[in-house]
Amino acid sequence: MSGCVLSLGKDDLARFCVEHGYPPFRARQIWRWLYARRAGDWQSMKNLPAMLRDRLARTFTLNPAAVPRMEGARSSTRKFLIGLRDGHRVESVLIPAGRRRTVCVSTQVGCRFRCAFCASGQAGFLRNLEAGEIVGQVLLAARESGSRPTHVVYMGVGEPFDNYDEVIKSVRIVNDPDGLAVGARRITISTSGVIPGIERLAGENLQVELSVSLHAARSDLRAELMPVNRLYPLPSLIEACRRYSKTTGRIITFEYTLIRGVNDSRQDAANLAALLKDLPCRVNLLLLSPIAEFDGRPPLRRAAAMFTATLAGRRLNATLRESKGCAINAACGQLRFRSCVFPRLL
Ligand code: SF4
Repeated sequence: MSGCVLSLGKDDLARFCVEHGYPPFRARQIWRWLYARRAGDWQSMKNLPAMLRDRLARTFTLNPAAVPRMEGARSSTRKFLIGLRDGHRVESVLIPAGRRRTVCVSTQVGCRFRCAFCASGQAGFLRNLEAGEIVGQVLLAARESGSRPTHVVYMGVGEPFDNYDEVIKSVRIVNDPDGLAVGARRITISTSGVIPGIERLAGENLQVELSVSLHAARSDLRAELMPVNRLYPLPSLIEACRRYSKTTGRIITFEYTLIRGVNDSRQDAANLAALLKDLPCRVNLLLLSPIAEFDGRPPLRRAAAMFTATLAGRRLNATLRESKGCAINAACGQLRFRSCVFPRLL
């Protein structure tokens, strides 16, 4: 066992302690140093035996990343550009809003899903992040803001279910009550529609929120916007969502980005309402923010209002989102960071 300690679950740490002749309760102490006190070095963990501290220091790094670069003022939305140890970079965003402190984390370096409107997808896939590299993004935000995040959204660069095991491992670490203690219902995993991931999540006994990016109510149009639809077509995706909802009893959030003249007509709204009929869900309607890689335009105001009203008239719980922040922006990936959280970077 070696690498970054943030990739270890509490049981892994307990095993490590026992293997080296220490009682398992030491794992809980280490955990609290890591996540509750956010210690920056092993030697500051004063209630651990010196030999255990030395053993830990020889075996694990404390931090998965090099020194990050930050953009944004301390009191407002801040983006962290994190240099990983192999030279790759990932982004995370901290969004303070009243008493909420939401961290939007990346799960991969790049993304292989190539959604038409996403800069991350266009740039291609490099590698999966380890759990510790995901947890490290949350910990960094906690350190920088001086307090634990209240919400974590897996909506940064990458498709979380394309890196399922490391993502779920990181969720359990972030959720652990002895650690960062972010409540499961305040953790959202966002997928572009990877059905096996939705099916596995249903069996995890985790109370996390699931968000599914739709962006079209017709399979042919969705395949144009999101190539993942060729692998997991819309009808199968919706069936998987119905099964997920039935198994878990949980409401699903669907993301739908309105694009002028593409998916924002009254008929599109009616199609969406029919598609989601009787499925316990809410819909976030988002306005496309143009990016260089995609020539779509945001909807006209009246079209967005008409779309929202059409859904409401068909008893679909839909909200038009216009403010900043990961949880309310377009698809997953850099698009949200660049166009919505940091619009001036475009
Ligand atoms: S929107 Fe998400 S799934 Fe699609 S290419 Fe971008 S990061 Fe990947």
